[in-house]
Amino acid sequence: MRRWLCALLAAALLCSLIPSVGCAADEPPRDTYVIEAAYEEGVLTASMLCTFHNRTGEALTHVDFNLYGNAYRADAQYKPVSAAYAARAYYNGESEGGMDILSVQPCARWEVCGEDENILRVHLAEPLAPGEEVSLTVGYRLRLAEVEHRTGVARSAVNLGNFYPVLCVYEPGAGFYECVYSAVGDPFYSACADYEVTISMPASFTAAASGEPVSAGVENGVRRCTYRLENARDFALVLGTSFTVLQGEAAGVSLRYYCYDDGDAEGTLRLLEECFTFFSDTFGRYPYGSYSAVQTGFCYGGMEYPGLVFLSDSLAGADYAYTAVHETAHQWWYAAVGSDQTRAAWMDEGLAEYSSLLYFESAPACGFTREGLVASARRALGAYCTVQQQLFGGADAAMTRPLADFSGELAYVCLTYDKGLLLFDAVRGALGERRFLSGLRRYYARFCGKLASPADLAASFSSAAAEGIIASFADGSAVV
Ligand SMILES: [Zn+2]
Repeated sequence: MRRWLCALLAAALLCSLIPSVGCAADEPPRDTYVIEAAYEEGVLTASMLCTFHNRTGEALTHVDFNLYGNAYRADAQYKPVSAAYAARAYYNGESEGGMDILSVQPCARWEVCGEDENILRVHLAEPLAPGEEVSLTVGYRLRLAEVEHRTGVARSAVNLGNFYPVLCVYEPGAGFYECVYSAVGDPFYSACADYEVTISMPASFTAAASGEPVSAGVENGVRRCTYRLENARDFALVLGTSFTVLQGEAAGVSLRYYCYDDGDAEGTLRLLEECFTFFSDTFGRYPYGSYSAVQTGFCYGGMEYPGLVFLSDSLAGADYAYTAVHETAHQWWYAAVGSDQTRAAWMDEGLAEYSSLLYFESAPACGFTREGLVASARRALGAYCTVQQQLFGGADAAMTRPLADFSGELAYVCLTYDKGLLLFDAVRGALGERRFLSGLRRYYARFCGKLASPADLAASFSSAAAEGIIASFADGSAVV
């Protein structure tokens, strides 16, 4: 995700480009989702066939799914939007949504449970042995709130992020990991899977989607589109009635930009192409065949999904450009290389911030400099720590912590984005340009399509100094 950015800065350093490396897909069999969904007037009605492969090494009696759509209930304990953002997000006042599970087959029984009705637990008819697979068909209805958020009807488009039950990550010894929603950060953690998604909608709508379109047509006033996406950790769509669609290309990948309020849409497309090419050259080849950015109503700056990013229609100028670059960087850090965003959010956010910095060094005309971005991050983190010191007699600057342990959005931004940027700048300073970029390329090549831990990231630099910096920043012991 991307916060708001206020500072505008100047000048630059050039960053050397490194030959690209590929992305090794996770070994099949991967889990698969085949989703058939129909949207009409704020409601998505869907059937999902999910094939789950038991690679846990343990016999399982149940399978768990995250129901992110249920966070939009009026009585939700973990609200998706903080009080500070509520007026901006809920543009028509209070509005309610929810994900209603209608049926699950085959199974012994199913229940909606978890801390906040956020888990679908399917009790299997028979234990699922290691190496076996089970195919479950889930019928559900997603009621969309009028909210400019990940899942909801915005003023100018329909945001379908997290629109289906998502398999929980299985952690050995601990079982399926439950993601409770959080108004702070991106409360998502998922493994890669293969997708085939079909969406039907009134013909006046156009869809921007994570995957590549494999078929599309209009019949009796209904538009029906099918998409495929392999080895991806999520799938999202945005539906709109007034999109202009610009097509481009970068690093052999087709790019699409969907917008309805951009006075320099061609310029935005060029920026997307240029930063996409830079990240491909610097970190490694993009794993998917297409990449789309879509302008939509969204109460934060932007939001990343594999193959698709949201860009808020309330941003303009340098803020819009910065967000476009930041969200594009997430295609490498979050979409391709996954990490636990609920307990180590700094990994993908810090890397998205620092990757943006690297791009802006190579593109001085954008108006951002390394010195300016580093100074801005240092000021923000310093101010946060000073206030914490004054209020509580000390500042807990640990970065690796559950989202619920951040005292609010300011703490999250300072410790995840700002300190994350400073962390990677410190590693670059200690290792030098060549070893730093080699480490990031190694990290990408090893963990593309997989989930990485903080230790995996640290080890990718093959340097005790880098490991020390990362560990001390992450646990809060480093003096920054
Ligand atoms: Zn982000």
